[in-house]
Formats: sequence, C-alpha cells, structure tokens
Amino acid sequence: MTKGDLAAMEALYLIKIGEIRLKDGNRAEFENRLKRDIKRRLSSFHSEVSSREGRYYLKVDEEHALKAEFALSRIPGINGWARAHKMPKDMTRMRAAAIAAMEPLVAQGAKTFKIEARRSDKGFVLDSYGIARELGGTILERFPTIRVDVHNPDAIIYVEVREKAYVFSDPSYGMRGLPIGSGGRGLLLLSGGIDSPVAGYKMLSRGLALESLYFHSYPYTSKEAWEKVRDLASNLATYSGGMTLHTASFTDVQLKIKKDALPEKSTLYLRACMMMAADMVAKGRGLNAIVSGESLGQVASQTAENMRFTGSYTDYPILRPLVGTDKEDTIRLARSIGTFDISILPYEDCCVLFSPKHPVLKAKYDEERAEFDGLGFREAVAQAVSTMETVELPFTFTPPQATAVQR
Ligand code: ATP
Ligand code: MG
Repeated sequence: MTKGDLAAMEALYLIKIGEIRLKDGNRAEFENRLKRDIKRRLSSFHSEVSSREGRYYLKVDEEHALKAEFALSRIPGINGWARAHKMPKDMTRMRAAAIAAMEPLVAQGAKTFKIEARRSDKGFVLDSYGIARELGGTILERFPTIRVDVHNPDAIIYVEVREKAYVFSDPSYGMRGLPIGSGGRGLLLLSGGIDSPVAGYKMLSRGLALESLYFHSYPYTSKEAWEKVRDLASNLATYSGGMTLHTASFTDVQLKIKKDALPEKSTLYLRACMMMAADMVAKGRGLNAIVSGESLGQVASQTAENMRFTGSYTDYPILRPLVGTDKEDTIRLARSIGTFDISILPYEDCCVLFSPKHPVLKAKYDEERAEFDGLGFREAVAQAVSTMETVELPFTFTPPQATAVQR
C-alpha cells in the first residue's frame, strides 16, 4: 500500500469517557477540556473529534492511526478506546465488519467470544438480540474453533446501530480519571527517584495540570542526574500534553545546612527549604497545589511528625498521592507508565550526598520551627528560586527511553 492509499483511508475510534459522565452541572466544561486536549495533541495532522448521544468519536487519516492510539492511551479523562468500523445499516456489511474485528482477537488466542449489540434505531429490521444472534452465527461459521461464552468471554465484539452501524472490538485501556486542568494546576517536586514521577502521573490522572520543580546541587550532582529528571519530565509530558520543568540550584542551601545545622537535622531542614522554595514557585506561577512522592514511613524524612514540620513552610495543600501506597505497587505503576527504567539509572540526587547516618525521625514541632527559623534560610532559598532555569518539554509521540541517557 502506498502512502497515498493510506491517506485516503480513515481510522475511526470510539472513545469511552469515565468519571466525566458522572458530572452534572459542569459536564460541558469537562467535555470541552477533553476535546481540546485530544485536538491539541494531534495538532500536527488533521483530526476530527465529535460527540453524539454521549459517545465520542475521533477520526484521523489511516497513516496517523498509531499516533492517535498512542495519544488516546495517555489522555486523562479517557477510560478506553476502540477502533471502530462504521458502515451503512446493512447486515451484509456488518457481518464482514464483525469478522474483521474478530480476526486479530482469534490470532491473539481468543477461544470464546460474545456479541454485545445495542440498537438505538428502533426501526432497524432486527432487535439487539437478533443482531447478536445473526452476527454470532457468522463468526462461528468463519472461525470454527471458537465458541460462544456469554459469561466470561475472551473477546467481545460490540455492535451499535444508530444513524449508522458501528462494529468494534474490546476497548484498549485509557488513563481514566478527569481531563487535564479540570483539577487546577500544581507543582510537582520531581526528583530522579521512583516515587515522584508516579505521584505526578497519579495527580495528572485526577485532572491536575502540572509543572515540575527539580533541585540539583551542581557540582555535587552531575549533568546526567539532571538529564535523567528531564527524561522523567518528558515522559510525564506524554500524559499531560507537555511539561514545564524548573531547575533550581540548591548547592548554596545545602552548604549552609552543612555549615549551620546538626548533621542529624540536615535532611529535615533540606525538606523544609524545598517546601519553602516550592511555595515561592507556586505563588510566582499562580499554581494551586504542591505534589510530592512521599509515602508514610518509607524513609526517615517521611514520618507524620516530619511532614508536619516541613509542610508548615507552605500554605498550599501538599498532595501526596502515594502516602498510603506500598513500594511494590509504586514500582509496578512506574514500570507500566514507563518511568521505572529511567528512575533506576544510578545518578545521585542532591539529597543522598548530604544525608546523615541518623536523621531525626520525629521532629518536635515548636523546637524545630524555632531553631530552623533562627538559622535564616529564606534568603538562600529565595536566591535559588530567583535564578532557577525553566525548559518547556513538548508532548511527543516518542517518550524517552532509559537507553537515551545510559552512557
Ligand atoms: P523519590 O523516589 O520520588 O525520589 P524518595 O523515596 O527518594 O522519593 P525522598 O528522597 O525522601 O523520597 O523525597 C521525598 C519527596 O521529596 C520526593 O518524592 C520528591 O517529591 C521530593 N524531592 C526529593 N528530592 C528532590 C529533588 N532533588 N528535587 C525535587 N524534589 C525532590
Ligand atoms: Mg529521592
């Protein structure tokens, strides 16, 4: 097939939305956000997004089908999508389409199936039961090795008869959640670790648009450490549709901590300084929340007492979507979203280098507040924020792989 032939064909997708369906008053706003997000990501070629009777459809030229599928799998607010065959309401055409939809599923090993038919055009010759029976018979004839199982089928072929007939197979999973931006805009504290990218992903899926903030301590941390964080941010950009990454140098802050604070307090104070910086960045950028990858009890700095102390340096809500998540589950999610292999690259992040052997586990709130405030970190933190560098990472169809930074 030539490129010209491909362009002449079109790929049609049926999109299933999730929680947006449950919205009453402002559903239109959620839907418009979602449509805009789809169009924006596919803006490098022609696409059409339409909705009818609570269903969404996306149409692109066949040559862009894989890109469209990549985007649909990563857009918050989309529960699932399926490649659809659209045709006139004619049983012969519908039989052919059912066979075409079933073919790849049989090739993938499906042994059982069912047809799920819906008919909103009540004038059609067959009712939904009749459609299912007819098309089921067609499939059994064409694929003699498979059988019907209405309770627990390996594959489902969906048929809908409305202004046209649509046939489509099992939907692929989407990211679910709510459209980007519907939950406001937050600042993700993004380190090179496993947790914070996953925390960012989880908040994106709740509709929180994100910017990221990374603290480095050059020359104590390497350029590779920054590149790793950039690749993590680029990966998140494939879910958020683009990502702004701020990098602030915390070298002076860390040196001051080392000079003025007891070693066992350095991690705690560093976290407080990070929170203070995040607060300044969030105010400067007009954001509404701070997101962190903390999980209760995972490391010394992540006890409730310490979170109370560090959290007191901002009045923004601190969203910690992993606070109750087991590390194994976080790792599983990191693998499935594609950040794990990048996160485990060896480059040190700034905190490790200055970490004490026996950090304070339970900050005594009033005592620490007085001591920390007495050391006067605000100026060094403000300096780090005022000199931070910002890069815009675009949405791309090719997320960075770990190999891109492994030298
Ligand atoms: P992660 O795997 O996300 O690095 P972690 O388990 O290593 O988390 P900590 O190092 O205690 O935990 O960091 C807790 C949170 O603080 C991180 O999830 C991240 O949100 C933030 N954080 C830590 N270091 C940095 C950094 N250098 N720049 C920006 N944020 C950071
Ligand atoms: Mg870390």
